[in-house]
Amino acid sequence: MIKQLEQLEMLIGKPVQIDVSLAKYTTFKIGGPAKYFFIAQDNEDLVRAMTFAKKLKIPGCVLGGASNVLISDQGFAGLIIINQAKDIVLKKDNRVVADAGVNLMTLVNKTAEDGLIGLEWAAGIPGTVGGAVRGNAGAYGGQMSDNLIGVEVMRGSKQFILDKKNCGFGYRDSVFKHNNDLIISAEFQLQKGDKAQIQARIKEILAQRQAKQPLEYPSAGSVFTNVLIGSHNQDLLKKVPNLPKEYLEYEKIPAAWLIEQLDLKGKTIGGAQISNKHANFIVNIKDASANDVIQLISLVKMKVRDTYGIELMEEIEYIGF
Ligand SMILES: Cc1cc2nc3c(=O)[nH]c(=O)nc-3n(C[C@H](O)[C@H](O)[C@H](O)COP(=O)(O)OP(=O)(O)OC[C@H]3O[C@@H](n4cnc5c(N)ncnc54)[C@H](O)[C@@H]3O)c2cc1C
Repeated sequence: MIKQLEQLEMLIGKPVQIDVSLAKYTTFKIGGPAKYFFIAQDNEDLVRAMTFAKKLKIPGCVLGGASNVLISDQGFAGLIIINQAKDIVLKKDNRVVADAGVNLMTLVNKTAEDGLIGLEWAAGIPGTVGGAVRGNAGAYGGQMSDNLIGVEVMRGSKQFILDKKNCGFGYRDSVFKHNNDLIISAEFQLQKGDKAQIQARIKEILAQRQAKQPLEYPSAGSVFTNVLIGSHNQDLLKKVPNLPKEYLEYEKIPAAWLIEQLDLKGKTIGGAQISNKHANFIVNIKDASANDVIQLISLVKMKVRDTYGIELMEEIEYIGF
């Protein structure tokens, strides 16, 4: 292991840590150790770390804010790269290029400060641009793909820009969830707007989050995706006869609503609890293990399937399982 560590450090050109507990890096405050651990300060670090991990056949995993992941109690038997590359470049015609490691809220505040409209919806999402592009993060009527023009990626050993039309964006989905592309940066097309109005909208969204979400506890946000009601699955409605009309217009059945119907709010296993405030959040109320969370997830999925015949899908991603 020492030899492999030395090789990795030599190739990256910077120190790599070993056996680092990942719990303190995740918003869930859960997760065992990374065998190797490296914080990328810029895109060069990021690309080098990923390239040389591959070369040495060490499994590599990039994390941004680690705000959408559940990391196993056994940790990750490879190299975890925390991406903190943070350049934001304002270009002409209200375009902005942000490194994947840029904190989303920093980007929201920076573009608001420059009187640019388009990213207000993302206020309060704790991750980075890279994680948000991969999951096509969304909230309050917006989603990452809305203002995006292109994504700079590394695929294999090649680096290039993928146009939005080739990013396969869908509801909490993108091509990046299905391949191993490393997201390096993303370019957005924003519009000029009124700075005071943009900042008021951000304030409003942050207040709504505060009111609706259990932000006082560690979590990974919504655990499950909402259930899409499309023309192809109208029989879904027969499975949920008491569905409120507003969800028909929204064309989604909120996972939180399904979980509430089953009286699962407050259900606790070990240190993990289905939030009393927002049923789609599992919160870490006291030293929860990943195993506690997994058991709650299994319980919810089983009950929703048994009662409604609906298969809930995880929005959070599993690492090290
Ligand atoms: C309190 C709270 C509220 C939240 N609210 C929302 C919300 O309203 N809407 C929403 O959509 N989400 C929400 N989330 C979830 C989460 O914040 C977002 O999904 C966020 O975009 C994830 O970004 P991240 O940098 O933390 O990703 P991470 O958790 O670090 O990573 C997620 C996945 O992306 C991969 N990844 C990360 N960076 C890269 C990269 N550069 N290249 C390739 N792959 C990469 C990781 O390997 C992992 O598989 C919330 C979470 C919390 C804790």
